[in-house]
Amino acid sequence: MSTRVAVVTGSNKGIGLAIVRALCRQFRGDVYLTARDLGRGEEAVKSLSSEGLNPKFHQLDINDVNSIRTTADYFKETYGGVDVLVNNAGMAFRDSDPSPFGVQAEVTLKTNFFAARDMLTHFLPLIKPGGRVVNMSSTIGSNALKKCSSDLQQRLRSDDITEDELAALMQRFVDEAKKGEHRQGGWPDTAYGVSKMGLTVLTVIQARRLSKERPTDAILLNACCPGWVRTDMAGDKAPKSPDEGAVTPVYLALLPAGATEPHGKFVSDKQVQPW
Ligand code: NDP
Repeated sequence: MSTRVAVVTGSNKGIGLAIVRALCRQFRGDVYLTARDLGRGEEAVKSLSSEGLNPKFHQLDINDVNSIRTTADYFKETYGGVDVLVNNAGMAFRDSDPSPFGVQAEVTLKTNFFAARDMLTHFLPLIKPGGRVVNMSSTIGSNALKKCSSDLQQRLRSDDITEDELAALMQRFVDEAKKGEHRQGGWPDTAYGVSKMGLTVLTVIQARRLSKERPTDAILLNACCPGWVRTDMAGDKAPKSPDEGAVTPVYLALLPAGATEPHGKFVSDKQVQPW
């Protein structure tokens, strides 16, 4: 039987690094720490080695579709696919950042929604039967959904929204934000919230599609919130350590063989949340 393999994006620091640490301890197979920057990635591998752990490394910048393609090809050729994928890489502007809202919307959506979607486009076909996919979303995304106009909420929660329709809506948010018209368009004032809302809706859509197109493959795909975690992104006042923030994503990454749920859900503190 071929070696099982787990891949975590954006894992040179923060929650991603903690997820790799936990998977090195709990996942039976190879665990890949990935980073867009080779030096930062190698430093992170070294730090886990000093804890007696043995992650492997691959460079991966999710904003670069060639990097995604090269990485996907590597896993296909080396392992015949991927067993566990955690889409953790993400970004947020600081509250104090003076960049105009339109710029923040474009940059945030690019990484947190469009690049995460590119990852899924290239990696979902590689996910092996019994595989697990975890998208790092946020409760801030759920709150953003509640603040959208009722028309938008109705589409974003509908059973028949497609990936293309969702991508077009996310692009509409960016375009309207750049013109200062996003409020009239029915969107809330949070680029990060809209990006994570989009990622959760994408999770629901793709889980539905997996069930339809690969009904016997028993793949479970979910989105989650790690909680409020002390990292460079969230600052030092957050209550959870990175290792504590890793608990829910790792739980979803290691759902046991034979499990049929959760699938296509938004999960926090290991509990399915209403969406
Ligand atoms: P950090 O800022 O500490 O880490 C983010 C990681 O993502 C870094 O490794 C960063 O790499 C990487 N990254 C960013 N852009 C890219 C890219 N284009 N390609 C590859 N890697 C990239 O954040 P956290 O650990 O706090 O966040 C991890 C995830 O959890 C994010 O998706 C975040 O939105 C989500 N989250 C975090 C919460 C919290 O309280 N911390 C709460 C809810 C959700 P680099 O070092 O090169 O910048």
